[in-house]
Amino acid sequence: MTISTLTVAGTTTPETTSPATTSPAATTSSGPDTRTTTATLVADDATDATFRRAQQRSERIEADLRVDPTAYRVVTGDRPTGDLHLGHYIGTLANRVRLQNAGVPVTVVIADYQVITDRERPGPLRDRVRALVADYLAAGLDPRRTAIFPHSAVPALNQLLLPFLSLVSVAELHRNPTVKAESLASRRTLSALMLTYPVHQAADILCCQGTLVPVGKDQLPHIELARVIARRFNDRYGHVFGEPEALLSSAPVVLGVDGAKMSKTRGNTIPLGADEDQTTAAIRAARTDGLRRITFDPLSRPSVANLLTIVGALTGREPARIADEIGDGGASALKAVAAEVINESLRDLRARRRELLADPGYLDEVLLDGTARASAAAGEALERVRVAMGMDYFGG
Ligand code: ATP
Ligand code: MG
Repeated sequence: MTISTLTVAGTTTPETTSPATTSPAATTSSGPDTRTTTATLVADDATDATFRRAQQRSERIEADLRVDPTAYRVVTGDRPTGDLHLGHYIGTLANRVRLQNAGVPVTVVIADYQVITDRERPGPLRDRVRALVADYLAAGLDPRRTAIFPHSAVPALNQLLLPFLSLVSVAELHRNPTVKAESLASRRTLSALMLTYPVHQAADILCCQGTLVPVGKDQLPHIELARVIARRFNDRYGHVFGEPEALLSSAPVVLGVDGAKMSKTRGNTIPLGADEDQTTAAIRAARTDGLRRITFDPLSRPSVANLLTIVGALTGREPARIADEIGDGGASALKAVAAEVINESLRDLRARRRELLADPGYLDEVLLDGTARASAAAGEALERVRVAMGMDYFGG
């Protein structure tokens, strides 16, 4: 598959008027259509200028990638704080798979040190890391093409933190809205690790020369800081790093069953590994509103729009069109469609996930191989940093 053969949801995807077309059967083999489109965004703040810019920029990057998939290098990742959920799948994972399959180099960082930014203990890391790897591979990441590694296993990456920390002020870090929100949600005193979270993330991205980061909306302030760090480093020491850009999907903030951002920490998720009954029950319990007629209105009806956006992303169809088809069927009809589409779309992934989890030795091998590749990349990046800073004491 090449990027140029893909259609863009809402512009070129064939539409029919039958509700039966919400079935995901035709789209599951190539995964959901999560490319950014203005029409399908669920925004929690329509006036957010940074968000709008990132969304427009994402559309332009998609166009660039159709011409040359190797123009960018994707680096992205997740914290091993629990099982991946539908927000990950639609918000970033499906884009990683799509870009990998189109020939874009992809690296995935499992951000294990970042687990302890907002909690006291790391939890059952080994199991969670293996489950993440199983989810990635089940979703379609191919370990021969995509390197997957835990960032604790790459010391050179973590050493980049020292020069990077010198490039940002404490006041800048305190202004980061995602750090503020996550610190508040954790109900813990803000640790220095949490405050510097975006700097570690810049090291994750820049150590592998990442220039494109498929992320959800919550990550935009962090990507902006990674750009600032790359720019300031280059200004001070000469050009070493490209400035990474965020790539938003068609659903940059998937909401959980309680109407807040779907998040492992909030416990409001539809896990990729849940079974069909659990998924149906969770969707049935999801918050909606009391209006009978289903309409797609992200600002005044965010929970209804969220279910429509999920169905739209998984089927490659326009959420507004799906809303029209459900019409006066109300929340129960919408939920029935959503549960069916989610279960159909994830059926193959879930079967592969079960098989992969039964072979932990293989999952560890994938990590070992990814770590070797990431260590080589990070070692080169650190060497360039040392040379630029005049710290290459022992080189020829
Ligand atoms: P935690 O609660 O531990 O922070 P999380 O569910 O927020 O977990 P992360 O590991 O922080 O997940 O996020 C990994 C990636 O998935 C990031 O790029 C993030 O933007 C994206 N992502 C997470 N949740 C969502 C969501 N609800 N909608 C869209 N993207 C999401
Ligand atoms: Mg998070």
